[in-house]
Amino acid sequence: MSGHRGPDPRAALAPGDRAAAVVDLTAIADNTALLRQRAAGAEVMAIVKADAYGHGLVPCASAARGAGAGWLGVALISEALTLRAAGDTGPLLAWLTTPGEDLAAAVAADVDLSVADVAGLWAVSAAAAQAGAAARIHLKIDTGLGRNGSPRADWPALCAAAGQAQAGGTVEVIGVWTHLAFADSPGHPTIRAQIAAFDEAWQLAERVGLHPHLRHLANSAATLTLPAAHYDLVRPGIAVYGISPGGEVPDARSLGLRPAMALVARLSLAKDLPADHGLSYGHEYRTTMDTRVALLPLGYADGLPRHAGGAGPVLIDGRRCTIAGRVCMDQVVVDVGPAAAVGAGDVAVLFGDPERGEPGVSDWARAAATIDYEIVTRIGPRVPRRYLGGDAPGDPR
Ligand SMILES: *Cc1c(COP(=O)(O)O)cnc(C)c1O
Repeated sequence: MSGHRGPDPRAALAPGDRAAAVVDLTAIADNTALLRQRAAGAEVMAIVKADAYGHGLVPCASAARGAGAGWLGVALISEALTLRAAGDTGPLLAWLTTPGEDLAAAVAADVDLSVADVAGLWAVSAAAAQAGAAARIHLKIDTGLGRNGSPRADWPALCAAAGQAQAGGTVEVIGVWTHLAFADSPGHPTIRAQIAAFDEAWQLAERVGLHPHLRHLANSAATLTLPAAHYDLVRPGIAVYGISPGGEVPDARSLGLRPAMALVARLSLAKDLPADHGLSYGHEYRTTMDTRVALLPLGYADGLPRHAGGAGPVLIDGRRCTIAGRVCMDQVVVDVGPAAAVGAGDVAVLFGDPERGEPGVSDWARAAATIDYEIVTRIGPRVPRRYLGGDAPGDPR
């Protein structure tokens, strides 16, 4: 874990790969194990939405399960069904549904669903009747985030409807849950207020006889910094991938987390250019001396943020360089300096594990004025995923 360097991601490029997002499944397993420890008795739901934050849904889900994540969580029913089709049979929650979706397919596949309003409750109940099985539901209360979840004023009516459906045998209320607005600021006053509203909500559910046995609220930040928010189950996402949620939460290294993804690319071309030569569209960068220039075959179509032009770091031949000028759709240019002995085919690391001297995801997030989550999640489908560790599954695409 901390101080553990992990294998060189460059070695995971397949012979024909121009680039790859190399994912170390051992890091996913180690991070999950550490989160289990930090959850101190609460169960762990590893969040694998958005293609496991860009890391690849099926291999990461299986690595997290293997390391003791009793639950998996995704946003969409389609994501849950992909897991079922891949053979996952464990407890699984999908929380973001939209009218018109095939809820019966989710019920038939034993996928737990979140419900936040009475209309949604009756839609799930009808889908369960159609599927011929009780729907397992988690009632979501909006304790202050102001995103999804039942407003507090509507909660008693939602609980009453859920009680009616449960008595009718179409739903089984498994859990009550919510989500924090300021989990990355552990001292923020809204946290105490949200926890109090949450306690009140599940007590009301108890009083009307629902007896949900799972209460859950903690994302990665709350799992790592707020033991009082753990309840029965924690829902870490970003930390599973070895990335700190940021804000006031300590960095990954001091938390003992290891970044799972490295983004590597083979240089398409290396060439010498004279001083005062513009590089890339708009010539926002000009060479200051006779120098060597490298071309990386990755651009904003692959998920490199265009906002990181002139700022995103790259490790080439042991030296830390910076993207020169604009990020193009398919490529970026790097001024590697006159002395660099780099050639086409050499492998560069855009981000990986700072413990190996590579730039981190956070460096790219800073360069693009965004958060680490967006950097890994937006690495596009054109970039193959290659896996290290685990059962070394193939590219799931
Ligand atoms: C994405 C998400 C999580 C995980 O959040 P992290 O900050 O990545 O740990 C947990 N719960 C819900 C409802 C989410 O949408």
